[in-house]
Amino acid sequence: MIKLEGSQLAARIKQDVQTAIERMVQEQDVRPGLAAVRVGDDPASAIYVRNKIRACEEVGIYSEHHALPESTTTAELLELIASLNARDDIDGILTQLPLPPQIDETVIIEAIDPAKDVDGFHPVNVGRLALGRPVFVPATPIGIIELLDDYGVEIRGANACVVGRSQIVGRPMAQLLLQRDATVTVCHSRTRDLAAVTQTADLLVVAIGRAGFIGRDHIKPGATVIDVGMNRVSDPDEVRALFGGEADRRLDVLAKRGATLVGDVHPAEAAEVAGKLTPVPGGVGLLTVAMLMKNTLKAAMLRRQ
Ligand code: NAP
Repeated sequence: MIKLEGSQLAARIKQDVQTAIERMVQEQDVRPGLAAVRVGDDPASAIYVRNKIRACEEVGIYSEHHALPESTTTAELLELIASLNARDDIDGILTQLPLPPQIDETVIIEAIDPAKDVDGFHPVNVGRLALGRPVFVPATPIGIIELLDDYGVEIRGANACVVGRSQIVGRPMAQLLLQRDATVTVCHSRTRDLAAVTQTADLLVVAIGRAGFIGRDHIKPGATVIDVGMNRVSDPDEVRALFGGEADRRLDVLAKRGATLVGDVHPAEAAEVAGKLTPVPGGVGLLTVAMLMKNTLKAAMLRRQ
């Protein structure tokens, strides 16, 4: 089984972005800018935003972190978005999801200028992708395509199955695979006999948010399996059941940090059947931030064309 590691590719993508930004600063006196907006105190969101800001610093993107209180209203957030839309030094705007329940997520996403929508969530960008003319594509699925290309995994003609139909991962993933001439099936929580469908896939992408859910019986022998899930597991017995030979190392992580990360794919079972598999952590997650940097550079270039 070949591990599809994301670290080297992510580093290369960030290096290319950095080089392009240095040239932009030198030749046009322009530095791309990204505004990250976060509402409330969700600790996972705080970590995600911090990682994105850190990546901006690495590649030379100017960044702002707007952390608003949990009680923020839709109107207040709209006001901030409008001011960011109007600023010339801000090329990309992202609102870290999920937003607190009193905020209308759809209204906020639709308020972002599509030219600054580096997350690719605005209906204009979703529509462009569906039409096969993508501009900004959500970072996780486009990062997966880069990873598949980097490892020379054939997409054209493959039977591809995407499990999960979220706006962030599943749906755009299916669109991108279709655009690359795969035969695509999308599964979700109402799919009858999930394993019967996933077993036919040469290329299986899983994004459901359930620790180790996809097991041996879901996977076609030799298939390429992309595990998007990021779930925290803190029960030592569950860790032993999921990680097989790697369990001791994971139990050490658990003892130090109180939890360890596991994907939606059962790592020990998948390792027996899959031909290629993304590790968690160390696979898809690293590419997501790198692709966000690439999208921000793209926004800065397109806005100045
Ligand atoms: P989401 O919005 O929670 O959607 C989950 C999807 O999975 C839904 O379409 C749901 O079906 C489907 N589903 C749930 N249980 C299922 C089951 N038993 N069988 C088949 N389908 C099932 O998910 P998301 O935002 O895409 O996130 C999924 C996972 O990826 C999470 O672990 C998240 O943390 C991770 N993630 C990682 C990255 C990264 O950078 N690595 C980025 C984004 C997300 P219905 O539509 O029928 O409800």
